[in-house]
Amino acid sequence: MKILVINTGSSSLKYQLIDMENEAVLARGLCDRIGIDNSFIKHTRTGCDPIVIEVDMTSHKAAIRQVIDVLTNGNTGVISDMSEIAAVGHRIVHGGEKFHESVIIDENVMAAIRECIDLAPLHNPPNIIGIEACMHIMPDTPMVAVFDTAFHQTIPQHAYLYALPYEMYEKHGIRKYGFHGTSHKYVAQRAAVMLARPLEELKLVTCHLGNGASVCAVEFGKSVDTSMGFTPLDGLVMGTRSGSVDPAVVKFLMENEKMTPKEIDEYLNKKSGVLGISGVSSDFRDLEEAFDAGNERARLAIRIFCYRVKQYIGSYAAVMNGLDAVVFTAGIGENNPLVRRIIMENMDFLGLRIDPEKNTVRGREMDISAADAKVRTLVIPTNEELAIARETLRLVSK
Ligand code: AMP
Repeated sequence: MKILVINTGSSSLKYQLIDMENEAVLARGLCDRIGIDNSFIKHTRTGCDPIVIEVDMTSHKAAIRQVIDVLTNGNTGVISDMSEIAAVGHRIVHGGEKFHESVIIDENVMAAIRECIDLAPLHNPPNIIGIEACMHIMPDTPMVAVFDTAFHQTIPQHAYLYALPYEMYEKHGIRKYGFHGTSHKYVAQRAAVMLARPLEELKLVTCHLGNGASVCAVEFGKSVDTSMGFTPLDGLVMGTRSGSVDPAVVKFLMENEKMTPKEIDEYLNKKSGVLGISGVSSDFRDLEEAFDAGNERARLAIRIFCYRVKQYIGSYAAVMNGLDAVVFTAGIGENNPLVRRIIMENMDFLGLRIDPEKNTVRGREMDISAADAKVRTLVIPTNEELAIARETLRLVSK
Protein backbone atom coordinates (compact mmCIF):
# COMPACT_ATOMS: atom_id res chain seq x y z
CA MET A 1 0.00 0.00 0.00
CA LYS A 2 1.37 3.42 -1.00
CA ILE A 3 0.64 6.51 1.04
CA LEU A 4 1.14 10.12 0.03
CA VAL A 5 2.12 12.48 2.87
CA ILE A 6 1.36 16.17 2.37
CA ASN A 7 2.62 19.14 4.41
CA THR A 8 1.16 22.40 3.15
CA GLY A 9 2.46 25.89 3.93
CA SER A 10 1.10 29.22 2.73
CA SER A 11 3.10 29.17 -0.52
CA SER A 12 4.72 25.74 -0.41
CA LEU A 13 3.78 22.07 -0.35
CA LYS A 14 6.08 19.22 0.66
CA TYR A 15 5.26 15.63 -0.26
CA GLN A 16 6.55 12.10 0.15
CA LEU A 17 5.25 8.91 -1.36
CA ILE A 18 5.93 5.97 0.94
CA ASP A 19 5.51 2.27 0.19
CA MET A 20 4.18 0.88 3.47
CA GLU A 21 5.20 -2.69 2.59
CA ASN A 22 8.77 -1.82 3.58
CA GLU A 23 8.31 1.85 4.66
CA ALA A 24 10.56 2.92 1.77
CA VAL A 25 10.30 6.48 0.46
CA LEU A 26 9.69 6.16 -3.29
CA ALA A 27 9.88 9.89 -4.02
CA ARG A 28 9.82 13.21 -2.22
CA GLY A 29 9.66 16.83 -3.17
CA LEU A 30 8.67 20.41 -2.67
CA CYS A 31 6.39 22.73 -4.62
CA ASP A 32 7.53 26.27 -3.87
CA ARG A 33 6.34 29.81 -4.63
CA ILE A 34 2.75 28.57 -5.12
CA GLY A 35 0.59 31.54 -6.09
CA ILE A 36 3.69 33.68 -6.64
CA ASP A 37 5.71 34.09 -9.85
CA ASN A 38 8.60 31.71 -10.70
CA SER A 39 6.99 28.73 -8.96
CA PHE A 40 8.84 25.43 -9.27
CA ILE A 41 8.74 21.84 -8.12
CA LYS A 42 11.84 20.09 -6.80
CA HIS A 43 11.33 16.34 -7.12
CA THR A 44 13.59 13.50 -6.04
CA ARG A 45 13.02 9.90 -6.99
CA THR A 46 14.82 7.79 -4.40
CA GLY A 47 18.23 6.81 -5.74
CA CYS A 48 18.20 9.56 -8.41
CA ASP A 49 19.42 13.14 -8.45
CA PRO A 50 16.84 15.83 -7.63
CA ILE A 51 15.26 17.57 -10.59
CA VAL A 52 13.80 21.07 -10.62
CA ILE A 53 10.88 21.80 -12.94
CA GLU A 54 9.78 25.40 -13.39
CA VAL A 55 6.04 25.28 -13.76
CA ASP A 56 3.20 27.70 -13.19
CA MET A 57 1.35 26.84 -9.97
CA THR A 58 -1.23 29.52 -9.31
CA SER A 59 -2.94 27.56 -6.51
CA HIS A 60 -2.46 24.59 -4.19
CA LYS A 61 -4.82 22.64 -6.43
CA ALA A 62 -2.43 23.26 -9.34
CA ALA A 63 0.45 22.14 -7.11
CA ILE A 64 -1.28 18.85 -6.21
CA ARG A 65 -1.90 18.26 -9.92
CA GLN A 66 1.82 18.74 -10.54
CA VAL A 67 2.69 16.34 -7.72
CA ILE A 68 0.44 13.66 -9.20
CA ASP A 69 1.94 14.37 -12.60
CA VAL A 70 5.59 13.97 -11.52
CA LEU A 71 4.71 10.85 -9.52
CA THR A 72 3.00 9.18 -12.50
CA ASN A 73 4.95 10.63 -15.43
CA GLY A 74 7.21 8.20 -17.33
CA ASN A 75 10.47 10.14 -16.78
CA THR A 76 10.06 11.21 -13.17
CA GLY A 77 7.39 8.86 -11.90
CA VAL A 78 7.38 5.98 -9.45
CA ILE A 79 3.78 4.79 -9.96
CA SER A 80 1.82 4.23 -13.13
CA ASP A 81 -1.48 5.66 -11.99
CA MET A 82 -2.97 7.90 -9.28
CA SER A 83 -5.16 4.98 -8.17
CA GLU A 84 -2.01 3.36 -6.68
CA ILE A 85 -2.12 6.01 -3.92
CA ALA A 86 -4.19 4.21 -1.29
CA ALA A 87 -4.51 7.17 1.12
CA VAL A 88 -3.22 10.65 1.84
CA GLY A 89 -1.89 11.76 5.24
CA HIS A 90 -2.01 15.49 5.96
CA ARG A 91 0.07 17.28 8.58
CA ILE A 92 -2.22 19.71 10.42
CA VAL A 93 -0.64 22.18 12.82
CA HIS A 94 -3.48 22.89 15.24
CA GLY A 95 -6.25 20.59 16.42
CA GLY A 96 -7.07 22.63 19.55
CA GLU A 97 -8.79 20.55 22.22
CA LYS A 98 -10.92 18.79 19.62
CA PHE A 99 -8.38 16.22 18.45
CA HIS A 100 -6.55 13.85 20.78
CA GLU A 101 -5.40 11.68 17.91
CA SER A 102 -5.31 11.42 14.14
CA VAL A 103 -8.64 11.07 12.32
CA ILE A 104 -10.07 10.15 8.94
CA ILE A 105 -11.16 13.41 7.34
CA ASP A 106 -14.86 13.97 6.71
CA GLU A 107 -17.07 17.07 6.65
CA ASN A 108 -17.29 17.23 10.46
CA VAL A 109 -13.52 17.02 10.79
CA MET A 110 -13.08 19.78 8.22
CA ALA A 111 -15.50 21.98 10.16
CA ALA A 112 -13.59 21.30 13.40
CA ILE A 113 -10.23 22.13 11.77
CA ARG A 114 -11.76 25.37 10.49
CA GLU A 115 -12.88 26.19 14.04
CA CYS A 116 -9.20 26.04 15.09
CA ILE A 117 -8.17 28.76 12.62
CA ASP A 118 -8.25 31.44 15.36
CA LEU A 119 -5.62 29.44 17.27
CA ALA A 120 -3.29 29.05 14.26
CA PRO A 121 -4.18 31.79 11.76
CA LEU A 122 -0.98 31.33 9.74
CA HIS A 123 -0.91 27.54 9.65
CA ASN A 124 -4.39 25.99 9.60
CA PRO A 125 -5.70 27.90 6.53
CA PRO A 126 -3.01 26.53 4.17
CA ASN A 127 -3.46 23.07 5.73
CA ILE A 128 -7.19 23.26 4.93
CA ILE A 129 -6.46 24.43 1.38
CA GLY A 130 -4.12 21.43 0.97
CA ILE A 131 -6.82 18.97 2.05
CA GLU A 132 -9.45 20.58 -0.19
CA ALA A 133 -7.09 20.50 -3.17
CA CYS A 134 -6.40 16.77 -2.64
CA MET A 135 -10.11 15.99 -2.14
CA HIS A 136 -10.90 17.74 -5.37
CA ILE A 137 -8.32 15.83 -7.39
CA MET A 138 -8.62 12.48 -5.57
CA PRO A 139 -12.27 12.40 -4.43
CA ASP A 140 -12.31 8.65 -3.76
CA THR A 141 -9.02 8.44 -1.83
CA PRO A 142 -9.28 8.40 1.98
CA MET A 143 -7.55 11.32 3.73
CA VAL A 144 -6.21 11.39 7.29
CA ALA A 145 -5.39 14.43 9.44
CA VAL A 146 -2.39 14.10 11.78
CA PHE A 147 -2.15 16.99 14.27
CA ASP A 148 1.00 18.57 15.74
CA THR A 149 -0.96 19.26 18.92
CA ALA A 150 -2.70 15.88 19.41
CA PHE A 151 0.10 14.08 21.30
CA HIS A 152 0.07 16.83 23.95
CA GLN A 153 -3.63 16.51 24.76
CA THR A 154 -2.66 14.21 27.65
CA ILE A 155 -0.94 17.12 29.48
CA PRO A 156 -2.80 17.58 32.79
CA GLN A 157 -4.73 20.77 33.46
CA HIS A 158 -2.34 22.00 36.17
CA ALA A 159 0.42 21.96 33.54
CA TYR A 160 -1.47 23.42 30.60
CA LEU A 161 -3.35 26.29 32.26
CA TYR A 162 -1.79 29.75 32.53
CA ALA A 163 -2.43 31.85 35.62
CA LEU A 164 -4.76 34.23 33.79
CA PRO A 165 -8.39 34.68 34.81
CA TYR A 166 -10.07 31.34 34.08
CA GLU A 167 -12.62 33.05 31.80
CA MET A 168 -9.90 33.58 29.19
CA TYR A 169 -9.51 29.81 28.92
CA GLU A 170 -13.26 29.38 28.62
CA LYS A 171 -13.77 32.29 26.20
CA HIS A 172 -10.72 32.04 23.94
CA GLY A 173 -9.15 28.66 24.73
CA ILE A 174 -5.99 30.35 26.04
CA ARG A 175 -3.84 27.51 27.39
CA LYS A 176 -0.71 25.58 26.53
CA TYR A 177 -1.27 23.32 23.48
CA GLY A 178 2.26 22.29 22.52
CA PHE A 179 3.56 21.46 19.03
CA HIS A 180 5.99 19.04 17.30
CA GLY A 181 3.80 16.27 18.77
CA THR A 182 4.31 13.88 15.85
CA SER A 183 8.08 14.16 16.27
CA HIS A 184 8.12 13.79 20.07
CA LYS A 185 5.89 10.71 19.83
CA TYR A 186 7.97 9.15 17.05
CA VAL A 187 11.32 9.53 18.83
CA ALA A 188 9.82 8.35 22.13
CA GLN A 189 8.69 5.15 20.39
CA ARG A 190 12.13 4.70 18.82
CA ALA A 191 13.78 5.30 22.22
CA ALA A 192 11.77 2.41 23.69
CA VAL A 193 13.02 0.17 20.86
CA MET A 194 16.64 1.28 21.41
CA LEU A 195 16.38 0.75 25.17
CA ALA A 196 14.59 -2.59 24.63
CA ARG A 197 11.96 -1.62 27.21
CA PRO A 198 8.20 -0.97 26.93
CA LEU A 199 7.41 2.71 26.34
CA GLU A 200 4.75 2.39 29.06
CA GLU A 201 7.54 1.99 31.65
CA LEU A 202 9.76 4.86 30.55
CA LYS A 203 10.30 8.44 31.68
CA LEU A 204 11.79 10.38 28.77
CA VAL A 205 12.70 13.95 27.95
CA THR A 206 12.63 14.41 24.16
CA CYS A 207 14.45 17.48 22.80
CA HIS A 208 13.35 18.48 19.28
CA LEU A 209 16.05 21.03 18.46
CA GLY A 210 15.60 22.47 14.98
CA ASN A 211 14.95 25.95 13.70
CA GLY A 212 11.78 25.62 15.77
CA ALA A 213 12.58 23.85 19.03
CA SER A 214 10.67 22.24 21.89
CA VAL A 215 11.20 19.84 24.76
CA CYS A 216 8.65 17.28 25.92
CA ALA A 217 8.26 15.24 29.10
CA VAL A 218 7.02 11.81 27.98
CA GLU A 219 5.92 9.72 30.94
CA PHE A 220 4.85 6.14 30.25
CA GLY A 221 4.27 6.98 26.57
CA LYS A 222 2.19 10.10 27.20
CA SER A 223 3.12 13.78 26.93
CA VAL A 224 2.80 15.30 30.42
CA ASP A 225 4.38 18.68 29.64
CA THR A 226 6.05 20.51 26.80
CA SER A 227 7.86 23.80 26.32
CA MET A 228 5.82 25.37 23.51
CA GLY A 229 2.58 26.92 24.65
CA PHE A 230 -0.48 28.67 23.26
CA THR A 231 1.67 29.25 20.17
CA PRO A 232 5.02 27.88 18.93
CA LEU A 233 6.71 31.05 20.26
CA ASP A 234 6.98 29.91 23.87
CA GLY A 235 9.68 27.94 25.65
CA LEU A 236 13.14 27.39 24.19
CA VAL A 237 15.24 30.00 22.45
CA MET A 238 14.96 29.20 18.72
CA GLY A 239 16.52 30.24 15.40
CA THR A 240 14.56 33.48 15.17
CA ARG A 241 11.98 33.07 17.97
CA SER A 242 12.58 34.47 21.43
CA GLY A 243 11.02 31.62 23.40
CA SER A 244 9.81 32.59 26.89
CA VAL A 245 10.34 36.20 27.96
CA ASP A 246 8.81 38.14 30.83
CA PRO A 247 5.38 39.14 29.38
CA ALA A 248 5.96 42.70 30.66
CA VAL A 249 8.69 43.06 28.02
CA VAL A 250 5.95 43.15 25.38
CA LYS A 251 4.31 46.26 26.84
CA PHE A 252 7.72 47.85 27.44
CA LEU A 253 8.77 47.38 23.81
CA MET A 254 5.43 48.58 22.47
CA GLU A 255 5.73 51.78 24.50
CA ASN A 256 9.44 52.47 24.21
CA GLU A 257 10.11 51.23 20.68
CA LYS A 258 6.69 52.35 19.43
CA MET A 259 5.77 48.90 18.13
CA THR A 260 2.29 47.87 17.04
CA PRO A 261 0.95 44.39 17.99
CA LYS A 262 1.83 43.16 14.48
CA GLU A 263 5.35 44.57 14.73
CA ILE A 264 6.04 43.05 18.13
CA ASP A 265 4.75 39.70 16.89
CA GLU A 266 7.17 39.89 13.97
CA TYR A 267 9.99 41.03 16.28
CA LEU A 268 9.59 38.10 18.67
CA ASN A 269 9.00 35.50 15.93
CA LYS A 270 11.39 36.56 13.17
CA LYS A 271 14.11 38.79 14.61
CA SER A 272 14.85 37.30 18.02
CA GLY A 273 16.27 33.94 19.13
CA VAL A 274 19.89 33.08 18.37
CA LEU A 275 19.71 35.39 15.33
CA GLY A 276 18.78 38.35 17.52
CA ILE A 277 21.37 37.59 20.19
CA SER A 278 24.25 36.88 17.81
CA GLY A 279 23.45 39.29 15.00
CA VAL A 280 25.08 36.58 12.85
CA SER A 281 22.52 33.98 11.76
CA SER A 282 19.63 31.76 12.85
CA ASP A 283 21.52 28.72 11.54
CA PHE A 284 23.72 26.83 14.00
CA ARG A 285 26.27 25.97 11.30
CA ASP A 286 26.93 29.69 10.80
CA LEU A 287 26.91 30.31 14.55
CA GLU A 288 29.48 27.58 15.17
CA GLU A 289 31.72 28.95 12.45
CA ALA A 290 31.51 32.44 13.97
CA PHE A 291 32.10 30.97 17.45
CA ASP A 292 35.25 29.20 16.19
CA ALA A 293 36.42 32.51 14.70
CA GLY A 294 36.07 34.14 18.12
CA ASN A 295 32.72 35.90 17.71
CA GLU A 296 31.62 36.56 21.30
CA ARG A 297 27.93 37.07 20.60
CA ALA A 298 27.72 33.85 18.57
CA ARG A 299 29.24 32.05 21.59
CA LEU A 300 26.69 33.74 23.85
CA ALA A 301 23.76 32.77 21.60
CA ILE A 302 24.79 29.08 21.66
CA ARG A 303 25.31 29.28 25.44
CA ILE A 304 21.87 30.80 26.08
CA PHE A 305 20.19 28.27 23.78
CA CYS A 306 21.83 25.35 25.61
CA TYR A 307 21.15 26.78 29.06
CA ARG A 308 17.41 26.91 28.37
CA VAL A 309 17.37 23.28 27.15
CA LYS A 310 19.24 22.22 30.31
CA GLN A 311 16.66 24.02 32.48
CA TYR A 312 13.84 22.08 30.85
CA ILE A 313 15.58 18.71 31.22
CA GLY A 314 16.03 19.37 34.94
CA SER A 315 12.49 20.59 35.48
CA TYR A 316 10.92 17.70 33.57
CA ALA A 317 13.00 15.17 35.52
CA ALA A 318 11.43 16.76 38.63
CA VAL A 319 7.93 16.69 37.10
CA MET A 320 8.23 12.96 36.34
CA ASN A 321 10.12 12.11 39.55
CA GLY A 322 12.86 10.46 37.54
CA LEU A 323 14.34 9.97 34.12
CA ASP A 324 15.35 6.98 31.97
CA ALA A 325 16.67 8.81 28.92
CA VAL A 326 17.14 12.15 27.21
CA VAL A 327 16.58 12.09 23.44
CA PHE A 328 18.07 14.57 20.96
CA THR A 329 16.40 15.01 17.57
CA ALA A 330 15.83 17.42 14.61
CA GLY A 331 18.49 19.38 12.69
CA ILE A 332 20.54 20.57 15.68
CA GLY A 333 19.77 17.67 18.03
CA GLU A 334 20.82 15.13 15.40
CA ASN A 335 23.83 16.94 13.96
CA ASN A 336 25.43 19.23 16.49
CA PRO A 337 27.84 17.60 18.98
CA LEU A 338 28.85 20.99 20.43
CA VAL A 339 25.29 21.84 21.46
CA ARG A 340 24.74 18.36 22.94
CA ARG A 341 27.99 18.61 24.88
CA ILE A 342 27.20 22.03 26.38
CA ILE A 343 23.67 20.97 27.36
CA MET A 344 24.87 17.75 29.00
CA GLU A 345 27.79 19.28 30.93
CA ASN A 346 27.47 18.87 34.69
CA MET A 347 24.33 16.74 34.60
CA ASP A 348 25.83 13.78 36.48
CA PHE A 349 23.68 14.56 39.52
CA LEU A 350 20.80 13.26 37.35
CA GLY A 351 22.84 10.25 36.22
CA LEU A 352 23.46 11.79 32.79
CA ARG A 353 26.91 11.67 31.24
CA ILE A 354 27.83 11.42 27.57
CA ASP A 355 30.78 9.73 25.88
CA PRO A 356 32.74 12.41 23.92
CA GLU A 357 33.67 9.94 21.19
CA LYS A 358 30.10 8.67 20.68
CA ASN A 359 28.84 12.26 20.79
CA THR A 360 30.53 12.96 17.45
CA VAL A 361 27.68 11.08 15.74
CA ARG A 362 25.59 12.97 13.19
CA GLY A 363 22.27 12.04 11.63
CA ARG A 364 21.85 8.47 12.84
CA GLU A 365 20.54 6.60 15.85
CA MET A 366 23.10 6.20 18.60
CA ASP A 367 23.25 5.77 22.37
CA ILE A 368 25.86 8.42 23.22
CA SER A 369 25.88 7.79 26.99
CA ALA A 370 29.09 7.15 28.89
CA ALA A 371 29.41 3.49 29.90
CA ASP A 372 28.73 4.26 33.59
CA ALA A 373 25.81 6.69 33.03
CA LYS A 374 22.68 5.65 34.94
CA VAL A 375 20.43 7.59 32.57
CA ARG A 376 20.81 7.16 28.82
CA THR A 377 21.31 9.91 26.23
CA LEU A 378 20.11 9.00 22.75
CA VAL A 379 20.43 10.63 19.34
CA ILE A 380 17.41 9.68 17.20
CA PRO A 381 16.70 11.22 13.78
CA THR A 382 13.06 12.24 13.63
CA ASN A 383 10.85 11.20 10.73
CA GLU A 384 7.56 13.05 10.87
CA GLU A 385 6.54 11.95 7.36
CA LEU A 386 6.91 8.28 8.23
CA ALA A 387 5.00 8.84 11.47
CA ILE A 388 2.17 10.50 9.50
CA ALA A 389 2.18 7.64 6.96
CA ARG A 390 1.97 5.05 9.78
CA GLU A 391 -0.95 6.88 11.38
CA THR A 392 -2.67 7.08 7.99
CA LEU A 393 -2.16 3.36 7.39
CA ARG A 394 -3.45 2.51 10.88
CA LEU A 395 -6.65 4.48 10.38
CA VAL A 396 -7.47 3.41 6.83
CA SER A 397 -6.79 -0.26 7.66
CA LYS A 398 -9.37 -0.25 10.46
P1 AMP B 1 15.53 21.82 11.23
O1 AMP B 1 14.58 22.95 11.50
O2 AMP B 1 15.20 20.58 11.97
O3 AMP B 1 15.77 21.59 9.75
O4 AMP B 1 16.97 22.29 11.81
C1 AMP B 1 17.66 23.42 11.33
C2 AMP B 1 18.93 23.61 12.19
O5 AMP B 1 19.63 22.39 12.22
C3 AMP B 1 19.88 24.68 11.67
O6 AMP B 1 20.29 25.51 12.75
C4 AMP B 1 21.06 23.89 11.13
O7 AMP B 1 22.28 24.51 11.45
C5 AMP B 1 20.99 22.56 11.84
N1 AMP B 1 21.35 21.47 10.93
C6 AMP B 1 20.53 20.85 10.04
N2 AMP B 1 21.21 19.90 9.35
C7 AMP B 1 22.48 19.92 9.78
C8 AMP B 1 23.67 19.19 9.45
N3 AMP B 1 23.66 18.22 8.54
N4 AMP B 1 24.80 19.50 10.14
C9 AMP B 1 24.81 20.46 11.08
N5 AMP B 1 23.71 21.18 11.42
C10 AMP B 1 22.58 20.93 10.80
